[in-house]
Amino acid sequence: VALPAETNCWQGYDQALENSLWRKNQLSQALYGAVENNELHLLYQPKVDVQTGAVRGAEALLRWESPVFGRVSPAEFIPIVEANRHIVEIGKWVIQQAVATLLSWRAQQAVDEHFTVAVNVASAQLMQADFSQWLIEVVQQSGLPAHALELEVTESDLMENMQLAMLQLQRLSAAGFRIAIDDFGTGYSSLAYLKVLPVAVLKIDRAFISEMHVNAQDRRLTRTVIDMARHFQFTTVAEGVEEPEQFKLLQEMGCDLIQGFLFAPPLHEAMLLQLVAQGFAASPAFIAQGL
Ligand code: C2E
Ligand code: MG
Ligand code: MG
Ligand code: MG
Repeated sequence: VALPAETNCWQGYDQALENSLWRKNQLSQALYGAVENNELHLLYQPKVDVQTGAVRGAEALLRWESPVFGRVSPAEFIPIVEANRHIVEIGKWVIQQAVATLLSWRAQQAVDEHFTVAVNVASAQLMQADFSQWLIEVVQQSGLPAHALELEVTESDLMENMQLAMLQLQRLSAAGFRIAIDDFGTGYSSLAYLKVLPVAVLKIDRAFISEMHVNAQDRRLTRTVIDMARHFQFTTVAEGVEEPEQFKLLQEMGCDLIQGFLFAPPLHEAMLLQLVAQGFAASPAFIAQGL
């Protein structure tokens, strides 16, 4: 069997590795100017009530349009800024942007007082000793109630430094912020932390959702997570719902909220508000428009 030419010898391998390191380095450099040069923006993906179809909130998702590299996926650039801790600065911009945007939606009465906006918080942010204090002050000064903001933290990020993470999250929860565990089920973590952390929301990772309509094992896992969450009185969100069959199953299982391409991808502000105004989730035509 012939190997692909590029992987056939050490030289080819080194070249590929070098190219990828070179690109990472270039992206990392380019990102240092991204905030100042207005290259970043947020999109908002709706979280839809499983029972009523109403849009109850949205997750803010970061986008980068580089003049040099074009549109770069967060899957590629977020790990870079997490590794060099530049996410601490970028993350502050994300929070300020999300707070200002939600305030303006509330002022326009485009959303009601129960509507929540979620932001992703990286480990490096959580590990800043003054993060909770900073966030509490920003939100207090803005006039937004803390409960309108949800903070999505991944399991694996929590495990990095459980002690400090717990301290920060307890402060933030006491100040009124809603804490969500993102990518739940992928972190190889112990369930014990759920009883000590001030968690309000569990987001079930797409890994369990994407094949649940064809895979009985995934179905059982998802049902178990939803049942467990109910005992703890956590709100459940299913991530990455793409198929109507998945939606139907999740509805039967008593999942609270759905986030996924079935209803809408991450959207520009105007489209999100259009969807909220409709009072129910998107039609397939609307979905296609957003992609
Ligand atoms: P995440 O927080 O788990 O966000 C959900 C991701 O799943 C988003 O990818 C979203 O577009 C995608 N998604 C939603 N529904 C579906 C679906 O039905 N099918 C598929 N295939 N994908 C779906 P996105 O926007 O590319 O972001 C990827 C990750 O980058 C996020 O995962 C999050 O970990 C990180 N990220 C994005 N924005 C930020 C940010 O502002 N700060 C930090 N720290 N991380 C961010
Ligand atoms: Mg998230
Ligand atoms: Mg997730
Ligand atoms: Mg993730």
